[in-house]
Amino acid sequence: MKQFIMTYLKTISSGTNTILHTWDPKYDLVCAGCSSVFTEDRLKCSNDGALLRANYRNKQLILKDVPGMGKFHDWLPIHEIMTTESGPVTYRSTELAAELGLNNLYISFNGYWPEKGAYIKTCSFKELEAFPTVQKTTGKNRSLVLASAGNTARAFSHVSAMTGQEVYIVVPSSGMLRMWLPEKPTDSIHIIQMGKNCDYTDSIHLADRIAALPGMQAEGGARNVARRDGMGTVMLDAAVTMKRMPDHYFQAIGSGTGGIAAWEAALRLREDGRFPGGLPQLHLSQNLPFAPMYNAWKAGRREIIKDIDMPDPKKLIHEMYADILSNREPPYSVAGGVYDALSSTKGTMYGISNNEAKKAQQLFERYEGIDIFAPAGVAVASLIEAVNEHKVDSEDHILLNITGGGVKRLEQDHTLSKIEPESIAENANVPLEEIIKRKVLA
Ligand SMILES: *Cc1c(COP(=O)(O)O)cnc(C)c1O
Repeated sequence: MKQFIMTYLKTISSGTNTILHTWDPKYDLVCAGCSSVFTEDRLKCSNDGALLRANYRNKQLILKDVPGMGKFHDWLPIHEIMTTESGPVTYRSTELAAELGLNNLYISFNGYWPEKGAYIKTCSFKELEAFPTVQKTTGKNRSLVLASAGNTARAFSHVSAMTGQEVYIVVPSSGMLRMWLPEKPTDSIHIIQMGKNCDYTDSIHLADRIAALPGMQAEGGARNVARRDGMGTVMLDAAVTMKRMPDHYFQAIGSGTGGIAAWEAALRLREDGRFPGGLPQLHLSQNLPFAPMYNAWKAGRREIIKDIDMPDPKKLIHEMYADILSNREPPYSVAGGVYDALSSTKGTMYGISNNEAKKAQQLFERYEGIDIFAPAGVAVASLIEAVNEHKVDSEDHILLNITGGGVKRLEQDHTLSKIEPESIAENANVPLEEIIKRKVLA
C-alpha cells in the first residue's frame, strides 16, 4: 500500500508575529474494499468503486465546547467548528423502558423537543447530514444537487436558508407535502418537483443529470463521508452519554446510510479505547411490504435480486406506511455498505408491518410524551419484536434511534412556511433547460 504523508506548510499571521506552521491534513479517505488511500475529496474508490471512509488523525475524541453536533468536530470532515445548536440528544428512557422491561434503554432523539435540549428544527436526523455537507461545500462556488423524498430536502433547504449555499433538490410529488421550513424560504433554494408517476428513484436519476452540469456538485448520498459522519454523531453522543459502547443499535432504514454511519462511528470509538463494550449489534428495520434489504439479508445474500426482493416496487411502495423508507438502490452490496455493517456487528434485520409500526408509534408517544415520524415507529416496533423474541436482555445497553419527530411540538413555537417548487419535471429525461432557470446552461 502506498504511503501518503502530506505536510502542508501554512503561514499564519497573528498580530505582528508570522509563525511558520506545519500541519497534517485532518483526515484522509480509505477504501473500505481495497484499503487504497486518497488525500483529495472523492466519492468512490478508483480501483473498485467501494465506499471510502474518513480516517481521522485524531484517534481520541476530544469534545469541543459548543452546542449541537460541532462538539464532535474531531470526527467530522470539515475544518471550521460548527456552531449550530442542531445535534443528536441521548437520554435514558424510564417510561417506555419500564413498559418493555428494559433497564438500560437509551433514546437518541433527533428532532425538535426543547425540553430535552433537542433543536433539530426540520425534525429529522437528515439535518445531521446537511450541516457538515454544506459546510464542506462552502467556498467552492458550487451548487449542491440532491434527490430527496422529503426529510433530506427540508434539511438541506433549511441549511441553505441559514448559510446562503445554493441547493437544487429533486423531490417526488408524494414528497411535496413534507416541503415546509421553520423559516421563510430563500432564493438559494431550488426545488424541482417530479410528475405524479415518478418515484424517488426517478428523482435520483434526474438529480444525476443536473449534477453533471457545470457549477453543480452531486451531494453524493451514502457515498458522502460528511453525510455519514454527520449521522455518526448519533452513536458518538450515545457513547459519550453512556460512557460505554451500546450493546445494540436500533434504526429504521431506507438506504441504510444511518446504519453504516453508526457502525463506522463505533469502529472509531473502539479505536479510541475509552469506551468499553464490543461493537454494537445493528438491528435495522424496513417497512413491509417494500423491504429489499430485509429480504436479501434473510436469504443470506449480499446481492439484492430485484424480481425476488422487490417485485413491482411502485405498487409495494404505495402500500407502505413509512413510505420514505423506499430506496430502490440502497448501498447494500457495496464494500463497506449495509451488508458488511450487519456482518461485522452480527446484526439482524426486521420486516415491520404497517400495523406494527402505527401501534409502536402510538406507544412511544404515550410513554415518552413526544410525537414521532412513521419511520421512527418502525424502529420502535423492531425493538418490541427484539424484546419478544429475546434478541436483547433486560440489562443490555440499548440505543434506539428516533430518527425524526417533534413536528407537533415545533408548531407550538414556530410558524412553518411552505416551499414552492421552481419547476415540475414530468419524467427523469426532460430537457434540463425546461426545469433549470439558470445561466449555467448557456
Ligand atoms: C432517511 C430517514 C430514515 C432512514 O435513514 P437511512 O439510514 O438513510 O436509511 C429513517 N427515518 C427518518 C425520519 C428519515 O428521514
